[in-house]
Amino acid sequence: MILYSENILIEALFYSKEKENTLRCRLCPHNCLIPRDKTGYCGVRRNNEGTLYSLTFGRIISAACDPVEKKPLYHFYPGTSAYSLGGFGCNLACRHCQNHDISQVRDETSFSRLHSMTPEEIVDNAQFHHCKMIAWTYNEPTIWYEYILETSKLAIKAGIKTVLITNGVINSEPLKELLPYIDAYRVDIKGFSKDFYKSLSGFPFLETVKKSAETAFNRGCHVELVSNIIPGWNDDPPQINRLIDWILDKLDESVPWHVTAYHPAYKLRETSTPAETLEKISALGKSLGLKHIYLGNVYSSTGNNTICPGCGKTVIRRFAMSMEENILKEGCCPDCSYKLKMYQG
Ligand SMILES: [Zn+2]
Repeated sequence: MILYSENILIEALFYSKEKENTLRCRLCPHNCLIPRDKTGYCGVRRNNEGTLYSLTFGRIISAACDPVEKKPLYHFYPGTSAYSLGGFGCNLACRHCQNHDISQVRDETSFSRLHSMTPEEIVDNAQFHHCKMIAWTYNEPTIWYEYILETSKLAIKAGIKTVLITNGVINSEPLKELLPYIDAYRVDIKGFSKDFYKSLSGFPFLETVKKSAETAFNRGCHVELVSNIIPGWNDDPPQINRLIDWILDKLDESVPWHVTAYHPAYKLRETSTPAETLEKISALGKSLGLKHIYLGNVYSSTGNNTICPGCGKTVIRRFAMSMEENILKEGCCPDCSYKLKMYQG
């Protein structure tokens, strides 16, 4: 039973009709075969009498003005605010998900808790709060595809950027159609082994995630990476080395990489990641050529600052997920004139 008015349901994109009233959703690599009156794995795309609908178009659970640093995005308009939206559902089931109370909702009776917000209202709200960008975050944006597509088109007209805080688990065709409207792609690279991905998230989608990040980068989207390091799961040197090699080989040495500490959450109860583990990974990455590695979820007096790759000067100081000082001049170091890859203005 659907508990809210059917006239707000929007037909989903990227699906095909299969035999016996089933539909094949082609948005993400699950490629769910969805029987009549059922949803796909994500819980928000439903086969209603042979048509696939998005159940969460125009529906959110939370909205807030966050510092862009909280996403984290460190090289994308530092010091500005992001109008941040979250909803229900996800296409993964990570054992350590910090937002499992919204990402793992599958009971449609809970959808009555969602609030309505049209694409026009999102853009108006972002403007009212002087936000530089709209951030689709908290839960996985991919499954909100149609809502994001429509809102981002309006955002462009209003001069507002759109950023996705994503797990990167999306099929190639829908990603390519969405990217012209997306300014920044902040993607989780949870680890660098297919087995690890399957153990942690339930699915072995590492190759899809890599391809998504590469596609976004190659199409001119600003890309930043996050890897949450879990002791004994994804901190082994071979895996870390492969990840660093991939960034250098397929992306760029200047792509910001946030290595963050894991803390027990949801179904995972390992001990928290020591700061020294992150510092070692950071030192390794820098020794191999990465220019911008940041430490997250741990106290670090310098691990969140941006250092000029040219002369070593601290050019942006950050603390507690906000910017304190930015001395770049039109994106360049004031001492050595090195031009950083940094969106400003
Ligand atoms: Zn410099």
